[in-house]
Amino acid sequence: MIVYHPDYQKHILSPGHPESPKRLEAIVERLKKESLFNVLEPEKASVEQISKVHAPDYINTIKNVGFIDMEAPVHPETFDIASLAAGGVITAGKYAFENKSPVFALVRPPGHHSGKDYGGGFCYFNNAAIGVKNLNKKTAIIDIDLHHGNGTSDIFYEDKDVLYISTHQTGIFPGTGRIEETGNKKGEGFNVNIPFTVGCGDKSFDLAFEKIIKPIVEQFAPEMLFVSFGGDAHYMDTLGNLSLSSPRYASLCEKITNLAKNVCNSRLCFVLEGGYHLTALSEVIAGIVGSWHNKKIDYEFTNIRDADGIGNNIVENVVDVQKKYWEV
Ligand SMILES: [Zn+2]
Repeated sequence: MIVYHPDYQKHILSPGHPESPKRLEAIVERLKKESLFNVLEPEKASVEQISKVHAPDYINTIKNVGFIDMEAPVHPETFDIASLAAGGVITAGKYAFENKSPVFALVRPPGHHSGKDYGGGFCYFNNAAIGVKNLNKKTAIIDIDLHHGNGTSDIFYEDKDVLYISTHQTGIFPGTGRIEETGNKKGEGFNVNIPFTVGCGDKSFDLAFEKIIKPIVEQFAPEMLFVSFGGDAHYMDTLGNLSLSSPRYASLCEKITNLAKNVCNSRLCFVLEGGYHLTALSEVIAGIVGSWHNKKIDYEFTNIRDADGIGNNIVENVVDVQKKYWEV
């Protein structure tokens, strides 16, 4: 199932910006071509629902078209579209939970760089966090966007009922997501960072999944699994330097789907974050949704750039830190 609304394409961050309506246009076109576009229409999240994550002053600043961040300019229509994006994830999460069936929330603007009282990195409201808070179950969030989801990490940093795991490229925006950031107070041990270096891709992500993500999520035993999905860790993406290929990107997500099947009865919700190469982004998403329907996708970008796991030492360093909290 897909959650989508045509108004998501009305958000224009600034003319010519890579986080553009063309992204969803390309994804929708590809899903339609593969007969995978079965849509559930969302409603706007209410201020009350958004308030479960964001501070009232911050919500009002967006509503009143004020300034939040250079990389997240607020326009007159921003509040309504951002509320509809948050509502999309609430709808998707609820549907996935009730029907025990995976859902992909194809929303814009993205959300994982947005914290309680700040935005940035093309994000206004933290859609995934709003979905999690409104469902209110024991939840694991796996964030496989190129960038660290600093907003999501901050929101749940002291929360033992929400496990946050992020793979990302180190040394780029937003600069957070070090291995040593493991959560605080009651949330200590419930924050897991896998900061990859330039070039890490297919094999490194496999290692991260097998040695860290899978065992920790199994031991955490969530009732619900969210994935902050960014397509920008692809080797075609121009915003970063990780090197996932299309088939292995999709198969990583298929492994996450199987994990959700085993730990939480397929209560699984994917949320769109970044991803800026239109063909790469849309073929990977088609591959993910296709895997839910036993449909094979023909990929254009199949080069394996990291066959040997150049990020193995990073994975081992994460294991060293996390073994204090988990059997890894
Ligand atoms: Zn990103």
